[in-house]
Formats: sequence, C-alpha cells, structure tokens
Amino acid sequence: MTVRIITLEEHFASPGLMDRFGRQSFHNKGEQLCDLNERRIAEMDAAGIDMQVLSLTSPGTESLAAEEAVKIASSANDFLATAIERHPSRFAGFAALPTAAPDLAADELERMVCQHGFRGAVINGHIQGRYLDDQFFWPILERAEALQVPVYLHPAPPPQAVIDAYYTGNFSPEVTRMLSTAGWGWHIETAVHILRLILSGAFDRYPKLQIIIGHLGEALPFMLPRIDLVLQPNLTKLQCPMAAYLRENIHYTFSGFNFTAAFLELLLQVGVDRIMFSADYPYGSMEKGRDFLTQLPVSSADREKIAHGNAELLLRL
Ligand code: MN
Repeated sequence: MTVRIITLEEHFASPGLMDRFGRQSFHNKGEQLCDLNERRIAEMDAAGIDMQVLSLTSPGTESLAAEEAVKIASSANDFLATAIERHPSRFAGFAALPTAAPDLAADELERMVCQHGFRGAVINGHIQGRYLDDQFFWPILERAEALQVPVYLHPAPPPQAVIDAYYTGNFSPEVTRMLSTAGWGWHIETAVHILRLILSGAFDRYPKLQIIIGHLGEALPFMLPRIDLVLQPNLTKLQCPMAAYLRENIHYTFSGFNFTAAFLELLLQVGVDRIMFSADYPYGSMEKGRDFLTQLPVSSADREKIAHGNAELLLRL
C-alpha cells in the first residue's frame, strides 16, 4: 500500500515526566518513548508510517497537582515542539495540559497551537477522580472549540475506589491489575467519561468541540443503539439524541485494536468519516496496525480516508 499513513495515538515521554514517575512506570518502553529522532523515524520507515501525531504518554499530567502539572506539561510540550521543528514532515503534536488548573491549561493549549503549530490536546482520563463533565474544566473545552482543535481523550486506570469496588474479587492481584486497565477498565472508564461529558451538556454549550477516542470507540459503538434508546432527550434535557453527539462530536481511532468485527461495528454505527488510523506506539505495533489497515474490507477511497484523509481534514495536516 502506498497511500500516506498518519497515526494519531502515538506516545512519547519527556525527561521531566520520566524523572517524576520513574522508568518502571513506562512498561520497559522508556527508550522508545524518549526518542523523537532517528530511531523512531527508522521504525516508522520500516512500518510504512508517514507521520505520527504525538502525545505525552500516560501517566500524564492529569494525576499531578496544578503547580507541578504546569511545569511538566510546558517542558514536555517544549521538548515535543523541538522534535517537530526538526522533523516537520514526520511529527505533529497534541499538547499536554495542566488540567488541574483549567485556565492555565487553556492558555498552554493556545500557546502550543498558535506559536508551535500543535494540532490539539491530549487528556489522559480523569483528573484526580474528576471528569470533564465538571464545569471546573470547561475553560479547556471552550478554548479547544475556539481554536478549532480536538482533544484526544486517552484512557487511564480508574480511580482507586472503582478498582476496589469493581475490579478486586475472587482472583489474583495480577488479574485485578490487568482487568482494571488493558483488559477492560481503561476502555470502560473512557466510555463512561464520554457519556458523562455528553450528558453534562458540554456539546450543547460547545457544539463544534471535537473529542477523539481510541480503541475503536472504547466499546461505545456496541452500546450506541441502546444508549440512544434509553437516554432520550426528554430525560437528558439535551438538544440532541445521544447518537447525534457520538456521530458528530467524537472521532475514533484504532490504537492497536486490530479486530475486524469491532471495526465493522464502529463503521456501521458512526460512518467512515469519523474513523482515523492509529497504532498506539510504542505499546502497539505499527506493522500489525498497518497490515490490519491494508486488509480492511472497505473501498480504496474509504481506506484513504482512514489512513490519512480524515486526519488531514480534522487536524489541518
Ligand atoms: Mn495509548
């Protein structure tokens, strides 16, 4: 396949983030995460990936108090901006934000978009147990809409109280750890976050706001008809049915979910114009993602939209 391929959920770590959380927090991927130079580009070339849109890896700045988050977010953004300046045809960026200080976060987003050409922001899940439906965070949403850039809502582990109540049971702590994260919890956590955001009326207030989620929709496509049926506007007091927000305010990427049936469910529920490619580097394989993209049962025109066209439109690449 020779079409341009842009990947949207690709991670890096800054020196400041590494120091703060320690190398053991990065699943033995520290070296790959920290490299924004020849090594990464060689891997992209080998896998046929033209551009990575980069975001600061989880655990990001969302678990930090405001003062520390401001420092780590801005230094990570400057680190990424330098890499993009070196390799402008290969890298683009989503800004890390000090979400605990929403007005400062909005200003940091504007700084990176307006001065450094960043394409949006990444938010790694709940902010110390608080979710984006909380109006405390809406200065970030307002600024993203005004700047016409999307926010990538990336998974994070659920709050500890949820892990205790939900994911701790008659099985080992090792099972709890995986069940509450990659095996289920990350994804359901993100799906609930999106539903809370919609139900808060955030998209009625900011109707042009666009959120990106990964993992073929974090199980939302499977549930979409049920959500739409049960949570109707006479109950929610929203301007639109739930399905409308899921089809008009949310974009979806792969993130290593190379699963044909799940892809088809997403395609049938939201349409091809909402689907973009991602590999979740370095946690997911760029080669396997590309192979999956290449063999998707879609027309070549739709494959081009997924591989690069939709991302070019949304991110102005
Ligand atoms: Mn990821």
